[in-house]
Amino acid sequence: MRILHSPNSSAHQPERYFRRGAIVPHPEQAVRYRRLRDVVLADGHDLMHAGEFGLGPIKAVHATDYVEFLATAWARREAVPGIDDEIGSSHFARPHMSRRPEGILGQIGYYMADTSTPIQAGTWDAIYGSAQAAVSAAELLASGEIGAAYALCRPPGHHAYANSAGGFCFLNNTAIAARHLVKRSGGRIAIIDIDVHHGNGTQGIFYETADVLTLSVHADPANYFPFYTGYADESGVGAGLDHNHNFPLAEGADDQTWHKTLADMLALVRSYQPVAVVVALGFDASVDDPIGAFGVTTDGFSKAASMIAGLGLPTVLVQEGGYLCDALPLNLSVFLKSFESAHQV
Ligand SMILES: [Zn+2]
Repeated sequence: MRILHSPNSSAHQPERYFRRGAIVPHPEQAVRYRRLRDVVLADGHDLMHAGEFGLGPIKAVHATDYVEFLATAWARREAVPGIDDEIGSSHFARPHMSRRPEGILGQIGYYMADTSTPIQAGTWDAIYGSAQAAVSAAELLASGEIGAAYALCRPPGHHAYANSAGGFCFLNNTAIAARHLVKRSGGRIAIIDIDVHHGNGTQGIFYETADVLTLSVHADPANYFPFYTGYADESGVGAGLDHNHNFPLAEGADDQTWHKTLADMLALVRSYQPVAVVVALGFDASVDDPIGAFGVTTDGFSKAASMIAGLGLPTVLVQEGGYLCDALPLNLSVFLKSFESAHQV
């Protein structure tokens, strides 16, 4: 398997965030990148540094003012007294109070959904490198050079909207890969999101779009992040109507339930007849994940990989969630092996 990654992924090192009433150690740590990179190296995969595709593919998904905010926020930190290693806000815009303020502190709350996405000295380099890994993987597919690639994206991306960060995500790597594939192929793309959290940013980005089908299986948002989206009746609007499908499952869903739902999602992909697939590959559906909610086993991930590979379509696998535990690198290892052995394009 061709692996695209950026060493800059380690440059964003969030220490803490506010969760369920307490300041806690941040789960989306830079060491995730190194653990995932080390296991694909040990497995003998073909690692390549991400190429340099500039801001074009990023701005094809994200608003220019939002991208510029992310790129310049750290340099504006002097405007926030008392800042040392990271900038954050505890004030957030709401639908009924949504004017864009001038100051950096207000803009953080304007462009972010929660406290999980602090800005540090290395944040822009990390999220830019992560996005370039996704574009590089999409470009390799579009060029016809290979039939599948894994983008080791860290920080993750599927909770980021066109103009908003949140849920550890800044730039939506999955959406950037999908949009790049649409542009380069001229065809339709299906996104299969198997992270335990709803891919809300991805849904938002493509909600009015017919040329990208967005599918997500995740824990029921009635009592689980991201709470405010991810329900089964969210099916798209305008040209995007019926091109978004959510599959919320009760917490504790096991392999059998998860695979049955995945089979339903794959049936939708087949009838959509896309030219390629982007998988939002979170491993936090694992029974071992420290912040997960499902009971998916390592064998369960292996079977899911062979099911998705069975589509027989060019595929970009984009790393999303999955947090530090011994099962995290193991689940990636078996997923890639199983995918490769079953994938024929
Ligand atoms: Zn997740």
